[in-house]
Amino acid sequence: MKIKALKGFKDIIPGEVELWQYLESTARGVFERFDFNEIRLPILEETQLFARSIGEATDIVEKEMYTFVDKQVTMRPEATASLLRAYIEHGLYVQKPVQRLFTIGPMFRHERPQKGRLRQFHQLDVEVLGSESPRVDSELISMGAMLFDELGIKVSLEINSLGCPACRPGYREILVAYIAERFDALCSDCKRRSKTNPLRVLDCKVPTCREQIKDAPSILEHLCGDCSDHFGKVQDGLIQLGVDYKLNKFMVRGLDYYCKTTFEFITADLGSQAAVAAGGRYDGLIETLGGPKDSPGIGFAMGMERLVLLLQLQNREVTIAQTDLFIAGLGDEGVRVGYGLAHGLRKKGLSVAMDHEGRSLKALMKQANKAAARYTLIIGDSEIASGKGVLRDMHDREAEQQDVDLSAEAILSAMG
Ligand code: ATP
Ligand code: MG
Repeated sequence: MKIKALKGFKDIIPGEVELWQYLESTARGVFERFDFNEIRLPILEETQLFARSIGEATDIVEKEMYTFVDKQVTMRPEATASLLRAYIEHGLYVQKPVQRLFTIGPMFRHERPQKGRLRQFHQLDVEVLGSESPRVDSELISMGAMLFDELGIKVSLEINSLGCPACRPGYREILVAYIAERFDALCSDCKRRSKTNPLRVLDCKVPTCREQIKDAPSILEHLCGDCSDHFGKVQDGLIQLGVDYKLNKFMVRGLDYYCKTTFEFITADLGSQAAVAAGGRYDGLIETLGGPKDSPGIGFAMGMERLVLLLQLQNREVTIAQTDLFIAGLGDEGVRVGYGLAHGLRKKGLSVAMDHEGRSLKALMKQANKAAARYTLIIGDSEIASGKGVLRDMHDREAEQQDVDLSAEAILSAMG
């Protein structure tokens, strides 16, 4: 019986991993330019943390979490809750009035695997904690836009405001009344949601529901003065920074903790897995989780699988880590001498590949080509006898091969 990876869990093997590395290092570069610091967080947390922050009536908490029921712990389905838990636990708000943090890693959700939708997937997650300023919202969004730009990925940005505890309940009532008139025509999920989480009806993907809600009242017309002013300034900031956006009154996001600004970066190239990044403001959440009063926050998460798919669609050339030298040792003694040289050269910082199996020259040269090594050093019986190996430049076929002393120093200087 062959054991395979679980459904929805995927290996990232050489050939693909280079794209992941490229994505990660590009993201780190952009995040650092925006003054963000990395934080690394555990994968397992108390179930309560997610139930309290994400919300009981969300898809994630209702049906997508990997929970060890006997231990009451859950594999994180997203990063924000853990990051805030750490922020509070370590009193990070004392060290700096505004913390700008990012984290990168796997998340776990039990959903139906599809292209761009896995059960273990990866997110780049960024959060700014301790500022209410609308400039922080537009700056954070502009950072996302800059990252997509540098990756060469075309996305569109949609934004909305979800109001706050002062204005959302009023809007919710108006929406509930609107939904009640169309209740019978809604899908069974929406029938349930209309009781537990009526705003979610607005982003239902079922066509009949979409038809029903297409003229639903917009929250943007029911914001309080404070929220409306804030949202206006967020848009001013985006305009100032040259970030294009579209208003989407139906974007409510699946998580309960959002308020005011919400946004998504959307791609047209991945079918129904269209959201490549999503986030928003969550001003009450830190306090709900036991943190200091009045500590606002905003963040977003980018789905790395979807970004990698988009990079693959562009046939992006990936640079595989370069091998400097391939040592072809022939016969027992050739392999033995090459073995020592490889170690000495690696100590001096060279990337060296070799084969220990005593294969034929032809087989070894094939490997050297595959490794795309810059140079190959051949060490056979006659080379051992003369004390000089044969060094070939694999990139410049015209170049004469050289005889070099079998010492790390000599090889290094012959390679230039
Ligand atoms: P979706 O509507 O696609 O289910 P979501 O609203 O559940 O997304 P978030 O919780 O906001 O997603 O997560 C942020 C990003 O993480 C998403 O925009 C997406 O790119 C990515 N993501 C979410 N769930 C998955 C998954 N199961 N597999 C791969 N990527 C995912
Ligand atoms: Mg989802």
